[in-house]
Amino acid sequence: MSIEIHPTIAAINPYIPGRLAEEIEREFGITQATKLASNENALGPSPKALSVLRDETNTLNRYPDGNGTALKHSLAQKYGITADRIMLGNGSDELIALLVKTVMAPGDDAIIATPSFSIYETAVTAGFGNAIIVPLTDCHYDLSAMAKAITPRTRLLFICNPNNPTGTIVNGEQLLSFLHQIPKHVLVVVDEAYGEYVTTPDYPDIIGLQSQGHPLVVLRTFSKIYGLAGLRIGYGIASPTVIETMNKIRLPFNTNTLAQRAALAALQDDDHINASRAMNLTGKALFYDTFTQLGLPFTHSEANFVYVNTKQNGKVAFEALLRFGVIVRHIDGPMLRITVGLPHENERFITAFRTVMQTSPASNASSNL
Ligand SMILES: *Cc1c(COP(=O)(O)O)cnc(C)c1O
Repeated sequence: MSIEIHPTIAAINPYIPGRLAEEIEREFGITQATKLASNENALGPSPKALSVLRDETNTLNRYPDGNGTALKHSLAQKYGITADRIMLGNGSDELIALLVKTVMAPGDDAIIATPSFSIYETAVTAGFGNAIIVPLTDCHYDLSAMAKAITPRTRLLFICNPNNPTGTIVNGEQLLSFLHQIPKHVLVVVDEAYGEYVTTPDYPDIIGLQSQGHPLVVLRTFSKIYGLAGLRIGYGIASPTVIETMNKIRLPFNTNTLAQRAALAALQDDDHINASRAMNLTGKALFYDTFTQLGLPFTHSEANFVYVNTKQNGKVAFEALLRFGVIVRHIDGPMLRITVGLPHENERFITAFRTVMQTSPASNASSNL
């Protein structure tokens, strides 16, 4: 007898993380590869977070505060809400999986866009739900197609805002008119992993919409602008009932002491956040100039990455860039996603990218961009 794996679970595609710099260095015999593949903050963690980490290590023989009281208190103040609406997670990835477990039964539907963050589909499938996939149109969410996909079995609907990998957003007006069309049995999950980078004035105010009674969850993370991806901590804001249920089914110590303390310090480090935003805007402008000069279509991104149509085989371009020590993300067909890095990393990418684009002729690789 061998262990039988359920066919639904066996068919799940594993998450493919961005290639590690050390891996590429070994494979291509290069040094100091530049990783622009996972939307991390190249400025590093907040210095304030680093200094509390050093002070906290002598408490590591103790269990964490399983409730994350201090961090939740600070988040509650920031958003002007009560702490019973906040849930901490081992990255927002964990919160996605917990939401599926909280509101979906086997055979229920969740509506997901493509291309978008792949974890939504994995979490839904792993929970024996049906992932109903609705393609983007012109790199934007097709909210009316998503509304039409709703059935009595729909429990969750995911909006990644800004969307990973396109960087595009659903604005406040679009979200509000969408919410008016959807029935109350559908919980809308708005994933704002890149929310702190957004500069457009019409970005939705999810807390405000929640207080008007719309069934919404917002997810945020300390992995992106706060520069703490390695510590694994994120948070969600929802109704007290949803939060209470998620708390019942999570592991008791899902976020660790160091993560909680560093997140609290990072949350209050406005200088680090402002510097990260400024670096991002400069980097994006440089990338856009390069793509414009090369005649390559791209989307205007509200996040810390750009999405470009290379007009050729994107996988080949991705691999050619690896040989220059630059790691980006191949999405699909001709499309690449490049994270904004430090100024010298951006320059290194641009030099490599120009060479790669000029040595391999543009083909008719198809794309919606
Ligand atoms: C990076 C990312 C997350 C956050 O992941 P963590 O688990 O918090 O590290 C969530 N959603 C999207 C769309 C992301 O790109």
